[in-house]
This record gives sequence, C-alpha cells and structure tokens, in this order.
Amino acid sequence: MAQAEQATFHDTAVMRRVTRLIAARPSTDGAGVRMKRLQGVPDLRSFDPFLMLDEFKSDDPSAYIGGFPDHPHRGFETVTYLLAGRMRHSDNHGHSGLLGPGGVQWMTAGRGIVHSEMPEQEDGLLWGFQLWLNLPAKEKMIEAGYRDISAAEIPAVDLAAGVRGKLIAGSFAGISGPGHAAGTGQTAPIYLDLRLDPGAAVTLPLPSGHAGFVYAYDGGVVVGPSSEATNVDAGRLAGLSDGDAVTIIADAASGARLLLLAGRPLAEPIAHYGPFVMNTEAEIHGAVEDYRAGRF
Ligand code: FE
Repeated sequence: MAQAEQATFHDTAVMRRVTRLIAARPSTDGAGVRMKRLQGVPDLRSFDPFLMLDEFKSDDPSAYIGGFPDHPHRGFETVTYLLAGRMRHSDNHGHSGLLGPGGVQWMTAGRGIVHSEMPEQEDGLLWGFQLWLNLPAKEKMIEAGYRDISAAEIPAVDLAAGVRGKLIAGSFAGISGPGHAAGTGQTAPIYLDLRLDPGAAVTLPLPSGHAGFVYAYDGGVVVGPSSEATNVDAGRLAGLSDGDAVTIIADAASGARLLLLAGRPLAEPIAHYGPFVMNTEAEIHGAVEDYRAGRF
C-alpha cells in the first residue's frame, strides 16, 4: 500500500460544502437489471462533466442475470467499477474482457460502439457502479476505445489515519490512478473509492473549478467544514460547492465507504437520447441514423 504525503492546507483554502443531497431512485436498465440511479435522467445536466451514476447491488440472480445485452453508445465514456461479482464485456470492435472484483472497465464510446455487459455468475453478490463521463464536443466522434484495468493496477493509498483509498483516476500527493479521460483528457476526472474506519476523518484536495460529489454507498459520513457540515446518510449523493478541498468524517459507529468524484465541467450544450449524448438534436438524429445503418 502506498503512503501518500498528508496534504496541508493554508488558511486561505476554500473548503467545499454540500450544496445538494440526492437519494437513490430505484430503476431498471438492460434486460431487467434492478439498480439505483444516483444521478442522470431527468437531471442529466447537474453534474457536468458526469452524466449518470448507477449502483447495482443484488444477491438475487433474477435481479441481474439478464445483464445488458447488445446496445449502442455514442458521445461519452462509461466507467464500470465492480466491488463484487463478474461481468463479461464484448463489443463490435472486437474487444472482450472479464471484469472482476475491484476492477474497472473504461469504455470510450466516441463515434460509436455496440456492446454487451453480462454477469458471468449464476448466484452470489453482484455489486458495482457505472458512471457516464461526457466527452467534449471536439472529441465526441473519436474512435471507440476500451480499457480493462485490473484490481492490481489500482493503487491503494493511505490518505489519513483509518482512511484508505483506491485511486481509480486522478492524483493525490504524487500518486496517480490508471484511469483517465480519452482524447486530450479535458475533464481531468478524479475517481476515488474511500474506506473510512469508524470516526475517521480526512481532508482531501480537489482542484478548484472541478465539479465534485460524494456518494456514501455503505455507512454515513459528515461532509464539509465543521461550521457548515452536512450529514450524508448511506445511499445519498452529495453535490459539493466549488473550492480547494473537502473534509469527510465517517460515522462513529459504522465507518463508511464512499465514492469521491470530481471533474472539470465542459459547459457545453447537452442533447441526450437514450444511449447517445451529443451537443445538438441534429447530432442525435445522426447518431440514430448511423446506428440503424450499422455504422457504429
Ligand atoms: Fe453500455
């Protein structure tokens, strides 16, 4: 496990606080996979450059076994992170991979991809997250790409006493995660899976200007400076104000596990239809036409 230098903050550092709390909404997607939607439709534009975050967690195969059969995407990236279980990915560009516990699949739809994401287990727990990360207008039509990132490639970092992080993307104190946005990487995403012991606290730097949010997926946390702290219960997503750093304190009884995400906003128009996210309605029509004509 890597040991990150403890970040220090000056008196002038602006501490982020919670501006918005969102409860998960039950949802289904693919072939009847039951999940929780934390952000996305109808509120797709609120967390620019992130478009959507889903959590799927079930030990009932009837809730996940149908998986996500062949479906298209264009104009953004999907980042799938598994905590438990196995998912098989294959796509029409010839990529195939098996995602296992602790692993990440970083898929760049770009100008178009048709893929399937299928559970490769008939029983047991399937638990993970899928994040949609937008691409800038000038890179929406780049070539499709696909990366498997194994659990072993994701650095585990000690961030404070009783606080460990798996750094999927971005950098903390000189340690960098393997994930990164495609193309020029304009959104510079930070993706950290944090585990805090009961009562543990950490203050982490986040680049000023990055949109940021916390999703407490197991156990509750308190987020923000002591003068403006907000309880974020398990199953809640907390949008953050702008600033230089964020303070997170775990529930004193249970500890907590959470995702911390941040990215530089694109501030571009969003046109969305199902699995296509472009800038204009005309581009959406083009996506539907290209998909129907087999040009993905
Ligand atoms: Fe997909």
